[in-house]
Amino acid sequence: MYGNVLPESIAKRLETELTYIQKHEYAVYYWISRCMVRYMNDSGYYVGAHGSVGSVLVAFLLEISDTNPLPLYYYCPQYHYIDFKATALDGFDLPDQVCPVCGCPLKSDGHNIPYETFMSYDGSKMPDIGLIFPVSKQYNEFAFMQELFGVNKIAYAGAIATLQERSAEEYISDYEAKTGDYFTEEQRSYICKKLCGIKQRVDGLYPAELLFCRKG
Ligand SMILES: [Zn+2]
Repeated sequence: MYGNVLPESIAKRLETELTYIQKHEYAVYYWISRCMVRYMNDSGYYVGAHGSVGSVLVAFLLEISDTNPLPLYYYCPQYHYIDFKATALDGFDLPDQVCPVCGCPLKSDGHNIPYETFMSYDGSKMPDIGLIFPVSKQYNEFAFMQELFGVNKIAYAGAIATLQERSAEEYISDYEAKTGDYFTEEQRSYICKKLCGIKQRVDGLYPAELLFCRKG
């Protein structure tokens, strides 16, 4: 991405991060996350990332996170010209400029987030990598992880909600509206009572987690 010879400040940042990651044995978290994100991307879906990975250049380069934590800069992808001298509040705010080497519009990026911001001064904090997968594809991701690690190594954990009266009423009304088949009050309350308490999985932003079991 930044050419064969890395600009010194980027090489230094990478080295610092990799030293911390190695020292605290966190590489596996990044590797698993990369596998998960790549599988979803290859299937044509976007994965949102949140958590402390926003301050990790390694996570950005592994395409786990979209947040580039480097200081803001202009960059020419073709000739690898890079300029860190620009000033603005954020890399996205930099005014348009053309590349002094090839004359093409320069790209700009960088949100200026030091690694230590979320990973502590000695880099010891465990990375928090929150990945948001499309709800309809979560089982596919689960199956892929089982394939990768073995069926007995992955557990699917999630919140379970029970159907409440109001939602039950809504389901009944939806059914009536769709089919044109209307119930009497008595039938409604009977069905409602039967529906209440039924367990259902929770959709939305945090519907489920995958648990990885260590060896032994
Ligand atoms: Zn250029």
